Amino acid sequence: MSKVIISTLYDSDVFRMACRQFDQAADAINLPEAIRDRTKYPRRCLAVALPVERDDGSVTVFEGYRVQHNLSTGPSKGGIRFHQHVTLGEVAALSMWMSWKCSLVGLPYGGAKGGVIVDPHQLSERELEHLSRRYMQEMINFVGPHTDVPAPDVGTNEKIMGWMMDTYSNHAGHLETAVVTGKPIALGGSQGRREATGAGVAYLVKQYLADLKIPIKKATVAIQGFGNVGSETALALANYGAKIIAISDYTGAFHNPKGIDVQRALKYVQYQRVLKDFDGGEPITNEQLLELKCTVLVPAALERVITEKNAPKLRCRVLAEAANGPTTNAADKILNQRDEIEVIPDVLCNSGGVIVSYFEWLQNLQNFYWSRDEVMTKLYAVLDKAKTSVDYQKRKFKFSRRLAALTLGVQRVADAKAARGLFP
Ligand code: GLU
Repeated sequence: MSKVIISTLYDSDVFRMACRQFDQAADAINLPEAIRDRTKYPRRCLAVALPVERDDGSVTVFEGYRVQHNLSTGPSKGGIRFHQHVTLGEVAALSMWMSWKCSLVGLPYGGAKGGVIVDPHQLSERELEHLSRRYMQEMINFVGPHTDVPAPDVGTNEKIMGWMMDTYSNHAGHLETAVVTGKPIALGGSQGRREATGAGVAYLVKQYLADLKIPIKKATVAIQGFGNVGSETALALANYGAKIIAISDYTGAFHNPKGIDVQRALKYVQYQRVLKDFDGGEPITNEQLLELKCTVLVPAALERVITEKNAPKLRCRVLAEAANGPTTNAADKILNQRDEIEVIPDVLCNSGGVIVSYFEWLQNLQNFYWSRDEVMTKLYAVLDKAKTSVDYQKRKFKFSRRLAALTLGVQRVADAKAARGLFP
């Protein structure tokens, strides 16, 4: 069989990492050759130039992408990332992980991801709005409630989703709430969506600690990343009674063995925007944070932060992957040999976000809205089911928990593709 050339389009460390994970999963379940490359590679992508008039009158052209990995099981789904280091290869890798994640937890979605190369902190509110609207304008023929449904990711938020929904709706000529999720509640957003990813991470941590017979009130937690996911995870775990001993963002890391006051940290970033100079703990480095002795380590920032260098030095009992792709394949190999560390793999651990996105999309399509209690109860039920199936797969085939999760995710996508057949 000839080699697929699109792999060079996305070529990068992070895309190769996602491909290698796929290969391992495909090998583990003996996925037939004929379905492999079809299941592995992204279906299509769009790269766009985004000219934005700056406040000083000059024009900057930003570059944006959307990669749709698979549309076999429903519209594709995944966030849009605004970050200065975004690459097409990264977006492609993230779109693959969205596919396995949606499939694993049983959502009727394929995977997608978007990204813009921009540091959103360097833009004024007006510039950010123009960039967000221009991105959606360029995506109008590529996305839609039954084609591809974007959502927030690193560097984007509900306000941006609101602008994007408005732009799409203006084009459609009517309100089209279901085109993006993670919107403000006033615009058809769901109760519980903002905190969903962190609440899901915390819930799974609680369940795994219970399995390990570790009382959550005795657990200590170190969290890398204090954006939407990191901060909501900290809050939810603190509410369960765990002690948050370290937090960080890209401007600094802080350690307090007596416990960090998460509410205070949240207030701090509300006014200061970043954790820099936060006085609720001793300043440490990000590397020190990852290697702290703690019950639960939560990487909640970007990819590839747990490497072969620091993996042997981790001193946590549970590694809860709130970020997408935080652990390199080489690090994963090391963690697999360290029986004392339980890994909750990303596709399971952070799936709460997209699960509640699915609930939001359902509510939009039906124009029938649920209470927060209803949302959270349904979220926990989906997470429980996914956890049970991952742990069953793990035991049955003696897989690592990551391999168990990936094989379940990959298998369902491949099955759907095989059942649909090849057209023409
Ligand atoms: N960006 C989130 C993720 O990585 C959420 C995606 C969504 O809600 O569609 O899972």
